[in-house]
Amino acid sequence: MKLLSIILVAVLMQQCSFSQTANNKNSTMDTTHKKNEVYSRESKEKVNLSDSEWKKILPSDVYYIAREKGTERPWTSKYEESKEVGTYYCAVCGNPLFKSDTKFESGCGWPSFYEPISKTSIIYTPDHTHGMERTEVQCGRCKSHLGHVFEDGPPPTGLRYCINGVVLDFEKAKDAEKKYNEKGGQ
Ligand SMILES: [Zn+2]
Repeated sequence: MKLLSIILVAVLMQQCSFSQTANNKNSTMDTTHKKNEVYSRESKEKVNLSDSEWKKILPSDVYYIAREKGTERPWTSKYEESKEVGTYYCAVCGNPLFKSDTKFESGCGWPSFYEPISKTSIIYTPDHTHGMERTEVQCGRCKSHLGHVFEDGPPPTGLRYCINGVVLDFEKAKDAEKKYNEKGGQ
């Protein structure tokens, strides 16, 4: 009798783990962020993962730019010419980076902004690679490579944040917020 119940438990456990694997398979076919547990648009907590951990989580094009400091080909981002009203987030961790009203047409081939959402949303690092003196911009929450900032932007800042569209996520402003802005905040 005892043996029988042990066998029964063993069989049940096997079934259980089998259905779990099946579920996992489904979830990996879902959107990229479901795999990415650190992705959050609310959390301010810093994210510190190793490159091998990121490699498991991120799609290969995002990994190449965010962690290997790659650059997407110019004129390839759907955000390059976009004029939609909303917020741009880090595609790696969900950190809010830029508002669409600071986006401008730079003609350089990458989405360009003149100002980040806040001082802490971006980290600045000197970059001496490729025989150039540039300032690299990284996400303030997960330190992913985003692009570079140059001093030939429009007023009021005079800065041009040249950002790879692959590492950006965009969310349209909600209708209510849009109306609020149209009425000038009344
Ligand atoms: Zn990030």
